[in-house]
Amino acid sequence: MIPAAFDYVRASSVDDALRLLAEHGDDAKLLAGGHSLIPMMKLRLAAPAVLIDIAGIPQLDGIAASGGRVTIGALTKHAALAASDDLRKHAPALWDAANDLGDPQVRNRGTIGGASAHGDPSADYPAVLQALDATFTLAGKGGTREIRAAEFFLGMFETALGANELLTRIAFDAAPNSAYVKFHHPASHYAVVGAAVVLTLSGGTIAAARVAITGIGDAAFRAGGVESALQGVNPNDAVAVKAATAGAARGVQARADTFASASYRAAMADVFAARAVAKAASAR
Ligand SMILES: Cc1cc2nc3c(=O)[nH]c(=O)nc-3n(C[C@H](O)[C@H](O)[C@H](O)COP(=O)(O)OP(=O)(O)OC[C@H]3O[C@@H](n4cnc5c(N)ncnc54)[C@H](O)[C@@H]3O)c2cc1C
Repeated sequence: MIPAAFDYVRASSVDDALRLLAEHGDDAKLLAGGHSLIPMMKLRLAAPAVLIDIAGIPQLDGIAASGGRVTIGALTKHAALAASDDLRKHAPALWDAANDLGDPQVRNRGTIGGASAHGDPSADYPAVLQALDATFTLAGKGGTREIRAAEFFLGMFETALGANELLTRIAFDAAPNSAYVKFHHPASHYAVVGAAVVLTLSGGTIAAARVAITGIGDAAFRAGGVESALQGVNPNDAVAVKAATAGAARGVQARADTFASASYRAAMADVFAARAVAKAASAR
């Protein structure tokens, strides 16, 4: 469990990090909280020759909520998200996820940007950020570009980040009626199945819903059929919600491992989607 030898450099700003990325090319990896990259290096699944430490770039840390929009710097730690009253009020789904992620050590080091860039198929934020319809800002040599969460998470450990790009921030509209619930793996706390829901309520029924699921397939996904079926449903009518959330993982190739079979995972997607709907409806 000892990584291959590597060089270590510290970036002082986004521009400095981009310069170092361009200089070292494919040999380099950005280092944020190190709680996914370092384990990969210890297992020799990654062996970068150079680590570019971005953890000290102050502009990339923090949570801002104003005018109905929430903006989060990529280096904001899970623990800061979990402790944020703004987040609990404006995006309880993300607050839920940060509070139920890993353990205190992971939450105190890991970052939302690192967790997103890593693209783990069992990670929590990919589902939450898709349900929030978040926008990711990516900085590269030619400037910045924005991409929606649904187009960011492409597959297992695969995202839309270019080789020499840096994720700088994540933004979304406030979603007070939102929730994330998961069935966590008892050892790692990763999601065996996790469901994120954002509801727009009108006159006691669901006017619109965004539902995203993680832990099932190669990447988190939006459950479009469930979103349509939830329209017009009373979120307190458990039977109607159960009917609408049935088949949440339809069309997705569910993974199987020694802990959970594919059919179990798919069945749990329905159960946790229904729970997330009930929780989102009672949030606020
Ligand atoms: C014991 C344990 C339990 C865990 N449990 C959970 C869990 O329950 N749920 C969950 O979702 N996650 C879990 N994790 C993962 C955790 O959330 C990590 O913090 C996260 O996946 C990586 O964030 P990081 O800041 O540590 O990134 P790092 O490990 O530093 O980097 C990860 C990858 O992202 C790249 N990267 C980092 N920042 C950026 C950026 N700003 N722009 C572009 N690329 C970047 C790096 O180059 C690297 O490839 C767990 C980890 C451990 C060790």
